[in-house]
Amino acid sequence: MQHIAFIGLGNMGAPMARNLVAAGFHVSVFDLAPAAVASLVEAGATAAASASAAVQTADAVITMLPANKHVQELYLGTGGVLDSAKPGALFIDCSTIAADVARQVAQAASERGFAMLDAPVSGGTAGAAAGTLTFIVGGSAAALQQARPLLEKMGKNIFHAGEAGAGQVAKICNNMLLGILMAGTAEALNLGVAHGLDPKVLSDIMAKSSGRNWTLEVYNPWPGVMDGTPASRNYTGGFGTALMLKDLGLAQQSALSANAPTPLGGLVRQLYQMHAQAGYAQQDFSSIVHMLQPGLQTPAA
Ligand code: NAD
Repeated sequence: MQHIAFIGLGNMGAPMARNLVAAGFHVSVFDLAPAAVASLVEAGATAAASASAAVQTADAVITMLPANKHVQELYLGTGGVLDSAKPGALFIDCSTIAADVARQVAQAASERGFAMLDAPVSGGTAGAAAGTLTFIVGGSAAALQQARPLLEKMGKNIFHAGEAGAGQVAKICNNMLLGILMAGTAEALNLGVAHGLDPKVLSDIMAKSSGRNWTLEVYNPWPGVMDGTPASRNYTGGFGTALMLKDLGLAQQSALSANAPTPLGGLVRQLYQMHAQAGYAQQDFSSIVHMLQPGLQTPAA
């Protein structure tokens, strides 16, 4: 597999595509934002004029789009990528979307003779840049076997969750937990700071105690506690509040469809809804700490 089409070059897609270029693949790229395409061309990718043009001679097509509607439009719309790809191409959608939409798109691909995987990721923008993402894959074992050489250039953990859609179910369980952990970590840090504790000292204590979790240790929401996190660059360039809100909505829909109680997932979705409406939709999701401590600033370097 030599020629890859990569569609959707945002906070996650751009660094993932860059890793494929660095690994020596011929990568054709397309995004609605010309600046995103230009930055990949500088890295050695080839610009395509449209999504259909990008996929025409590709052995594999990777998509990394915001939400359900973008994936449905690209795959199912008139003149979509399924109408333009060459026979035998493998489709890998890495977006986080609803499991039933992932199954719908995989079914449409299968009807045209293409194998397709849902392969949402975990690990954030830092993991995408470092090539250490976790891929959570739904689809056939044979298609996953074919995809492995590509996925291994972008990630270090690859899990087969089950058949089509299973990757999305597992991913949404993870992100519901992530939203709960981020809101809880912000709350605990704010409580300590309200009592005069240094947020870095408190973070170090909790990171070595039973409250430890990824949002505390790797993606700390308090500005200045950790270098390289969105909190230390005014909540830019990470995982947007709007995307977290979308994922928490997907979790609630899947909870309803399975009749599974998710009281904390429901509550944290409400918190993120209020946070997005307060003007934080485009900022990183760790900015939820501002709900408790408005005006918290990144300290000057
Ligand atoms: P983003 O908004 O930064 O990027 C999405 C990109 O898709 C944009 O550049 C946009 O122009 C492009 N796009 C939209 N519609 C398109 C179309 N029809 N054709 C071509 N390009 C199109 O989003 P992101 O942060 O990169 O996230 C992408 C997906 O990955 C989402 O589903 C998100 O939930 C998931 N995700 C994000 C993170 C993270 O930390 N940012 C982590 C794990 C998973």
